[in-house]
Amino acid sequence: MTQFSSRPAERLWRLILMVAAMLPIFSAARADALVEKTWIHGSANCAENRDAPLETFQFDADTYIFRQNKCLNFEGPFIYVMFGQHTVFIQDTGATADAAQFPLHETVRRLMRQRGDEKLNILVTHSHSHGDHIAGDAQFRGQPGVTLVEPNAPAVREHFGFTNWPDGVATIDLGGRTLTVLPAPGHQDEALVVYDERTRWLLTGDSLYPGRLYVRDWAAFRASVEHLVTFTKTHPVSAIMGTHIELARNGEQYPAGTTHQPDEASLVLTTRDLEELDRLLQQAGAEPKQIATQRFIVWPK
Ligand SMILES: [Zn+2]
Ligand SMILES: [Zn+2]
Repeated sequence: MTQFSSRPAERLWRLILMVAAMLPIFSAARADALVEKTWIHGSANCAENRDAPLETFQFDADTYIFRQNKCLNFEGPFIYVMFGQHTVFIQDTGATADAAQFPLHETVRRLMRQRGDEKLNILVTHSHSHGDHIAGDAQFRGQPGVTLVEPNAPAVREHFGFTNWPDGVATIDLGGRTLTVLPAPGHQDEALVVYDERTRWLLTGDSLYPGRLYVRDWAAFRASVEHLVTFTKTHPVSAIMGTHIELARNGEQYPAGTTHQPDEASLVLTTRDLEELDRLLQQAGAEPKQIATQRFIVWPK
């Protein structure tokens, strides 16, 4: 198959895929596939689990979602990988540090090699600084071509130029693809939300996903959600995705710490869910309280 492995043919194929992706019928089919996607979801008996340490899902020519195996760590976080012309963006590094068990950096490099993109820069940022989203940082730190934004408030603010946190937005240029970064404290102090203009995804980290939304700072969380709603009024959103799933399709919670979720809810939420979250938070007022819906649970901590 030499004609397909040569570089110009590969470029042409990617161009064809990109043009196809712009046709509404293809993008609608892809969006449906994402909504209906069944991820690796652990096992009742992890000793018998044969899934890879991380699942790689390709959404379009330049966009991937990884899911960590719940048998490796019950958190089973999601990781987002987006390619531009000069930079690969990676949001989060998972819940396991050991590269032998959880070869995240190697998986990204392999992907880059397969694409003929091995010369691209890598930018690693985090949805926030909790341990289940930063554990693989050491695999990237100090590697050639890698910029790792350290997961702490001063580093995040300095890298993105947030001088009046949590006000303002920042942008990331991947080359022909721009991401917008919005501060979203509440779950955690340096939480960020990322918007991709290409896919129109809003990546909400642990601030909004189908599960328990632990809120440490109630006032900050309410303000962040309100900001996000305002943002979505002027930016089209095709999907809202966070970094965990903790609900079943029928809306029931899986117990915290479980390593087996056989009937998971879709990873994909919508602007209607975000607006519902905002409405419930405004209704709840200044006093933190637990709010349960079929799509998410607000959980003051
Ligand atoms: Zn968290
Ligand atoms: Zn988390």
